[in-house]
Amino acid sequence: MTDRARCAVPFCRRTASVDEGFRDGEFLCGPHWRLRSPATKAAWRDHARLERRNPGHAMEHPAGSAGRLVRVALAKEERALWEATRAEVVEVAMGVSA
Ligand SMILES: [Zn+2]
Repeated sequence: MTDRARCAVPFCRRTASVDEGFRDGEFLCGPHWRLRSPATKAAWRDHARLERRNPGHAMEHPAGSAGRLVRVALAKEERALWEATRAEVVEVAMGVSA
């Protein structure tokens, strides 16, 4: 087997291909991804829409341009959204509620 990255939920046995850009504990497998709350799903939908409306990587835009600033903000937002989503899904999957 080639290198496989593990789902972010502890003890989940599902993996994804490192060659496709997945990193250990930095993604959720399908069944776990679907455990997101409706509010979190909506946040990802909004985020995806903003990404579609502002195409291109941050570095493709000139420094200080509106395009660069929007992409940098979107990257930060995605990181925060991912951290919150991972925490939420791990809690649901592990049955933590306190
Ligand atoms: Zn999983």
